[in-house]
Amino acid sequence: MQLQFVGCGDAFGSGGRFNTCFHVVGGRSNFLIDCGASSLIALKKLGIERNAIRAILITHFHADHFGGLPFFILDSQFFSKRVEPLVIAGPPGLREWFVTALETAFPGAAKTKQRFDLQLRELEPGAQVELDEVRVTPYLVRHGKPEGRFFALRIEVEDRVIAYTGDTEWTETLVTAARNADLFIAEAYFRDKSVPLHLDLATLERHLPEIAAQRVILTHMSDDMLAQRGDVGFETAEDGLIVQIR
Ligand SMILES: [Zn+2]
Ligand SMILES: [Zn+2]
Repeated sequence: MQLQFVGCGDAFGSGGRFNTCFHVVGGRSNFLIDCGASSLIALKKLGIERNAIRAILITHFHADHFGGLPFFILDSQFFSKRVEPLVIAGPPGLREWFVTALETAFPGAAKTKQRFDLQLRELEPGAQVELDEVRVTPYLVRHGKPEGRFFALRIEVEDRVIAYTGDTEWTETLVTAARNADLFIAEAYFRDKSVPLHLDLATLERHLPEIAAQRVILTHMSDDMLAQRGDVGFETAEDGLIVQIR
């Protein structure tokens, strides 16, 4: 199974990186984790077959994680000519936010009936759901208001566990979300500077022994963090990087 960082940037284009979007492909699975505003461009740049993607898992409704959906949906409708079903799963409020995002990006688009089966699933914190060979458990994290709409994700797929912090300041739910994961993708917005609503590497590092993930890769880095990434002693994400999950 492999995961490709389609985009690993923040909301502000730090390092010229695309917004957050990870593509996971296994023998029986093919899905995205987040779909930030620039994700359709990034997917096309990497030559990823969009119609093979069966699910999109969303951590929260910020544009750098969610804002690519209007482009993805319209592309599916008019250019990639999708007929395969698609599941989009995310925090409570997904159905309303999906319509808002579509109507903001392309007025009238939300009224267009797709030619493929589109299922929107609102996930409950702590409750595992099975989506097309993928078992997803969302955990509440702390990244703004309204509370209850920001997730870290624990994803069990084909005997592997992938965990992703989403965007968040430190919260104990990350331990449950990521414990013993085969791959833990963690936000590291700054190296030492502690700011509200985001995670810094120094804080994350203190908790990594308890989490005991097999492999940790840092993502969503600010310019400050990117400038130091060569000497932090951790793997860091790059747009296009492919990781084999063993
Ligand atoms: Zn973000
Ligand atoms: Zn965010």
